[in-house]
Amino acid sequence: MSQTTLPKSDELKGKSIIISGGGIGGAAGALALSLRGADVTLYERAPEFKEVGAGLQIGPHGVRMLEKWGLKDKVIDAGYLPERMQFRDAITAEPILTMDFGEEFQRHYGGRYLVIHRSDLLSILVEAATEAGATLLNGVQVLGADDREDGVVVHIEHRADGTREDVGADLLIGFDGTHSVFRKLLVDDEPVPSAYVAYRGTSELPEDPDMKDLKDVVGYIGPRCHFIQYPLRGGELLNQVAVFQSPRYLEALTEGTEVPEDWGNNEEFKNAFGHTNEFIQGRLGDMWLNTWWQMADREPLMNYVVSDHIIVLGDAAHPPLQYLASGAVMAMEDAECLALFASQAAVEGGKNWRDVLEEVSAERAPRCARIQTVGRFWGELWHVDGLSRLIRNETFRQAEATGWFKYADWLWDYDADRREYLKDPSKGEMPAELKEWEYNLHKIARLRDSREYEQVTV
Ligand SMILES: Cc1cc2nc3c(=O)[nH]c(=O)nc-3n(C[C@H](O)[C@H](O)[C@H](O)COP(=O)(O)OP(=O)(O)OC[C@H]3O[C@@H](n4cnc5c(N)ncnc54)[C@H](O)[C@@H]3O)c2cc1C
Repeated sequence: MSQTTLPKSDELKGKSIIISGGGIGGAAGALALSLRGADVTLYERAPEFKEVGAGLQIGPHGVRMLEKWGLKDKVIDAGYLPERMQFRDAITAEPILTMDFGEEFQRHYGGRYLVIHRSDLLSILVEAATEAGATLLNGVQVLGADDREDGVVVHIEHRADGTREDVGADLLIGFDGTHSVFRKLLVDDEPVPSAYVAYRGTSELPEDPDMKDLKDVVGYIGPRCHFIQYPLRGGELLNQVAVFQSPRYLEALTEGTEVPEDWGNNEEFKNAFGHTNEFIQGRLGDMWLNTWWQMADREPLMNYVVSDHIIVLGDAAHPPLQYLASGAVMAMEDAECLALFASQAAVEGGKNWRDVLEEVSAERAPRCARIQTVGRFWGELWHVDGLSRLIRNETFRQAEATGWFKYADWLWDYDADRREYLKDPSKGEMPAELKEWEYNLHKIARLRDSREYEQVTV
């Protein structure tokens, strides 16, 4: 691995910050804050820092931050730089949109497009945060916290022996994932299952005669399903993800009956890709069958500030569906935004933690809401059938012919330092052209509740 020097400064010297949760968001938070001199302690309840699953796509919005944190060479060494992203029709396998990640892309976005194994990215962040001075502890569950006038008291439990302790700090960040303890203090909501389920799998790329020349992220998108492939670890591994709509989940949803716990099970998986191209069907044997991921997000939240000294970030604040490949990047953006705004406030003076948290929330919530809602739309566009599919394919071809940057700029050309959503929160809304669009699951629930069964379509 290449050596890098971490870009350390000391604007937050003397500030003590506790982070609950050591996923990619928490580890990035520990890094970004300790790089500015803060005294950071991170508590992760699991016995080790570990990510379940395999590949992560990190667009230029994420890679530019990793570069800023001094990690560009390390993540490139550990990951893979795909040449292009290709969308193909899942029925015919024909390419419908190819996005080249060459020089023009790199000039336009000021960064590369990277794919990396989740565990590799997490290890790099954990190692760098430790090197920057943060203390990252496993086997510690955060139970709750009390906001006090001058800071916060965090209640923790050491899982090995069940002992409990109260720890004081200036600030607590809940990077504790979609079932966050602290999100519950803001809103009493539930995850919104999307009716789609993901199967994942990795295998050796060079040994695979059909795939050994793969250099791209390839997404076959088709009616009610999609299939993604890309290399990982410098081309050592092939990462594949097969996603489909669960008929049993949908049936329960439309009929208002109990949802089976194992929706998306192996039986459904076996029948889900029969209408797709033979090539895809031939690849499904490599998927792991012992576990599958029922995809869900939550309704966007417009405030992440829990109290004067507590904020939720990452999936705790804004879990998205995976279609824009930005959940982990959003968590890293949150980390950088908080560290940046806090260090700028420390230099300028005159602001307390509440002011900083409000500013972070006002910048991040509209941006993340847009990623969550456009992510739902983007997923549905991948999965359309019939005439809509043909129109979608033609629209994608046109986007390639006339230039697609204009569709991706809002997502990939972002820097919290510009405070663009803070200045204009309306940027967080769905673009005007999509305002009339309604998320299919909302529509189903609305029609079911109004008992207009005959109109319920999927
Ligand atoms: C199929 C799929 C594909 C995806 N692809 C991409 C992609 O290509 N690109 C991308 O950017 N994103 C992608 N994502 C999204 C991304 O994985 C998540 O958004 C991101 O990992 C969220 O990170 P986080 O740190 O906020 O939360 P988490 O990863 O959920 O981490 C939360 C951590 O907090 C810990 N914790 C929870 N409660 C407590 C407690 N009380 N005390 C102590 N610790 C606690 C948990 O153990 C966990 O380690 C994908 C997601 C899925 C499901």
